[in-house]
Amino acid sequence: MPGIYIHFPFCIKKCCYCDFFSITDMKNTGKFNKSLINEIGLYTDKLDSKPYVSTLFFGGGTPSLMKPEELELIINELKKHFNFTDALEFTVECNPGTIEKSKLEGYEQLGVNRLSIGIQSLIPKELEFLDRIHSPEEALKAIETGREAGFDNISTDIIFSIPGQKVKDIQYTLENLLKYKPNHISAYNLTFEKGTPLYNSMQSGKVRKNDDEVDAEIFEYVSDTLTDAAYEQYEVSNFTLDGMKCRHNLNYWNGGEYFAFGPSAHGYINGTRYWNHRNLKKYFDLVEKDSLPVEGSEVLTKRQLLEEKIMLGLRCEGLNIEEINKEFQIDLIAVNQELISLLTKDKLMENGNQKLRLTRKGYLLSDEIITKMCAGLGSVE
Ligand code: SF4
Repeated sequence: MPGIYIHFPFCIKKCCYCDFFSITDMKNTGKFNKSLINEIGLYTDKLDSKPYVSTLFFGGGTPSLMKPEELELIINELKKHFNFTDALEFTVECNPGTIEKSKLEGYEQLGVNRLSIGIQSLIPKELEFLDRIHSPEEALKAIETGREAGFDNISTDIIFSIPGQKVKDIQYTLENLLKYKPNHISAYNLTFEKGTPLYNSMQSGKVRKNDDEVDAEIFEYVSDTLTDAAYEQYEVSNFTLDGMKCRHNLNYWNGGEYFAFGPSAHGYINGTRYWNHRNLKKYFDLVEKDSLPVEGSEVLTKRQLLEEKIMLGLRCEGLNIEEINKEFQIDLIAVNQELISLLTKDKLMENGNQKLRLTRKGYLLSDEIITKMCAGLGSVE
């Protein structure tokens, strides 16, 4: 069943590493809410039915800047055009510097049942380096406040391999975070995206990226520590306690459909991927003219679908060989025989129960392995 992604494009301060579309000029938040409601109406006017959706995700930007009253207007609009399943997973991304109990209680009353809190680190100098607006105390308090407001599904994001970070630093963050038992932890390696201040600092020599060995050592530490603490690593960067996986992301990773609204949002419906303009003025202008703010779209080819399946499958719980072979009319093992044998021998991959999956050691090299697997498809179309 499809999900819905909503992109809220405002932040109090821009973080140095952030490549998401967000702006710090808040003067247009009211106009944005109205445009978003109009966009939802414009899009759904073209649908013949009222689709069922099983996940709803407000990301950004900083959607936790929204007051419950503002969120309510958008939810009401969505409810006019979509059927929410009873078991709807409804997530709002929260920046610890923007929440208070009354706001979270308001969210909870509106049906939000999952918070995704951007902790990132519990070390002041690391938070400062990342340009985050919150302190370690505020980060931990955010989890407590979420619990007090009635949330029993709380996810936290952390970032590792910040320049200069040592294993003892990530150990400090994890040990303190684990005392709060978040239901889910997403642990991302800091990336240096082109065009970000962080990337520019690296180019000018002001900041030095950690060596690959340090990256690997820290990732292994994160993975081991969370697994030892009973978290299941169900995707390279995602860990869950008591089976509380992020169903919204699982839908992406399983190649499921999702509607998307808001500037820069990407959707995937009926085999077509589409993306909205990454520019607020353009977004406003088009919606004002009753046009969808879509910048581009593409129908995925069979080859793209296969590559996506390989990438997402290997990052998650493995590739179902029989299913893929049938769907794409190939013999996936045969076309990559040599590579698979090598990876299996090096204990980076395992093949059992008709599932080809990366081991925890293999997760460390997932990007490289996926690239090689896709290149190995040769002329398969
Ligand atoms: S709070 Fe999140 S979306 Fe906003 S600038 Fe920082 S990383 Fe980007």
